[in-house]
Amino acid sequence: NNPMSEFLEKTPSSKEFMEEAATVMPGGVTANIKHFEPHPIVMKYAKGSSVTDVDDNKYIDYLMSYGSLVTGHGHEKIKRAINEQVEQDGTWLFGTPHHLEVEMGKRLQTYFPSMERLRYTNSGTEATLLSLRLAAAHTGKHKVAKFEGHYHGGYDQMLISVNPSVDEAGEAHAPNALPESKGMHNSHVQNTLILPFNDLKACEALLREQQDEIGAVMLEPVQGGIIPADATFMQGLREVTKELGIVLIFDEVKTGFRMGLGGAQTVYGVSPDLTTLGKAVGGGFPIGIVGGKKEIIMNSAPTAGADVFDSSQSKNTSAKDVLFHSGTYNGHPMILAAGMAVIDILEQEIGNVIEKTQRLKTGIDDLFHHYKVQGGTVGIGSIFSVVLTNKEKIQNYRDLQQTDLATRKEIDFRLLQKGIYTKPMSRYSVSTSHTEEDIDKTIMAFDQVLQEVFE
Ligand code: PLP
Repeated sequence: NNPMSEFLEKTPSSKEFMEEAATVMPGGVTANIKHFEPHPIVMKYAKGSSVTDVDDNKYIDYLMSYGSLVTGHGHEKIKRAINEQVEQDGTWLFGTPHHLEVEMGKRLQTYFPSMERLRYTNSGTEATLLSLRLAAAHTGKHKVAKFEGHYHGGYDQMLISVNPSVDEAGEAHAPNALPESKGMHNSHVQNTLILPFNDLKACEALLREQQDEIGAVMLEPVQGGIIPADATFMQGLREVTKELGIVLIFDEVKTGFRMGLGGAQTVYGVSPDLTTLGKAVGGGFPIGIVGGKKEIIMNSAPTAGADVFDSSQSKNTSAKDVLFHSGTYNGHPMILAAGMAVIDILEQEIGNVIEKTQRLKTGIDDLFHHYKVQGGTVGIGSIFSVVLTNKEKIQNYRDLQQTDLATRKEIDFRLLQKGIYTKPMSRYSVSTSHTEEDIDKTIMAFDQVLQEVFE
């Protein structure tokens, strides 16, 4: 049986919808990541762990909106929290300070003690962007370093060497900086240094060479939510950035609230200078957070570094003394109410989500072993991916690119036919709403699919 023709047979309404959508939006999508060939599946209903498409096919959802739905779809506690906020406040937006900004912030600080002060944004992208400005303001150095294959948002400074072609990517120990979009100015490529993940010696050499220019090193502590930094690498990177006066930024947009409530930094026991959060923290609503060392974040204080509002100082403050940070929707009460409910739910259930993920991963790994297929799952916390490879360990972007991507794609399309959804070639994210029965069904579907492909 050909999984692609089965896909087309089962999804005619999705195809029709996408043809119509293409008359409105380029490619019919409003974010290119939503596109895949031959056409995306269009969903019309979701509750808990399940999604239903416009052709009435029902799936167990592991896309979970790229990991942001850590409590699954339509969680009743989140609905209630939002309704209560609106009932109590009468509105959902004041444009003034609001008590939830402080309450949510204090709860975040208990799980992320490195966030001595924090600011809200509307997305992970905005959070990482703000963190870079904070680092530059603090150090006076404007170049940044990032890692090959790491994603921090789609803006020019960071949309470099996220998914480069291996042919053009250069030496493993000194990767080329490659732009990933039409329309980017070359200056960004020159101002962003690309580092190799999990190679401390090479990173240290590259950073020392440009220490007078590099103000920040940003990384995903677990690349793509699936490739963990080695503990010694993390420790080493912390030490070398400290020594060279470089701000170390952990982009925990994926890992925060998914590796445990305190993110990767708690698991590694390494404290960054700045942290960015997003995705799961909003439970499916748009949010971003930047937090970190007081002396760095205070650059954005409206009274130039004063901790509390001080009218005598504000008279002397000019624009150049203050780091500009604004946003009409920053700290949106409705979203913070949702975020507080996410914390309430995860305080009870995060351990269980991680255990369920582990059981699913072990089930899949056992099947790979049973069918004598090289590879298995990679990941940590409540996110993982499936790779086909004879490598013992996936350490970085290049290792991932060298896995058998064509067979992985076939597996994904066959899983769709068995009612298991993630966007083909994407990660699997488990939520509090996935049941033990979902996990059993998913392992069974993998069993059938691996049998179809390999026997
Ligand atoms: N940083 C990381 C690690 C991410 O995974 C993402 C999104 O996938 C972002 C930043 C950007 O976040 P957003 O899509 O909310 O702008």
